[in-house]
Amino acid sequence: MEDKTYFKQFDINIASLKNGKHDFDMQVDKTFFEKHVNEDITDANVLIKLMVSCEDNIVNMDFDMQGYLVSTCDICLEEMHISVSKHDKLILKKVDTPRTSDDEDIVFITEKDYKFNVEQYIYEYLMVAIPIRKEHSNKNDNDRCNPLMLELIQKNQEQSQEPHYDSRWDALKKIKLEE
Ligand SMILES: [Zn+2]
Repeated sequence: MEDKTYFKQFDINIASLKNGKHDFDMQVDKTFFEKHVNEDITDANVLIKLMVSCEDNIVNMDFDMQGYLVSTCDICLEEMHISVSKHDKLILKKVDTPRTSDDEDIVFITEKDYKFNVEQYIYEYLMVAIPIRKEHSNKNDNDRCNPLMLELIQKNQEQSQEPHYDSRWDALKKIKLEE
């Protein structure tokens, strides 16, 4: 079940905003990713400061996102944090007739769009923060691969590097010796 109270924070009631600047605080956590499912993300804690500045027919949105996403390390398969510290901008332009925009940073809205939901935008901004290879940096104690797992992986690699051994030859040799 979608937590409607939680997701309300992502609805910006633009019709009620007077010209000038308005601040909104939002939080992306596990609940967010229960709706916006992503196989790489198991949990999150990202604080979002959204600054909305309204002029007559233009609404500028500045997203400041700070925190971390929780994922799984590709090497040791243990939990790891992906730190998030980024800014993104979105511009809403009020037009008379609805149309699509070629520029992903610009959205056309009409007078009817009194509410603007920023969930999908935030989701996409956060996805950009996920590196192609997710792995512990091993630079500090809070960000280290599980040593037991590394040992196991190394053992496995050594074993697979040993020349292929066919036990049937053993059996044959044995027969010859017994003759
Ligand atoms: Zn790791």
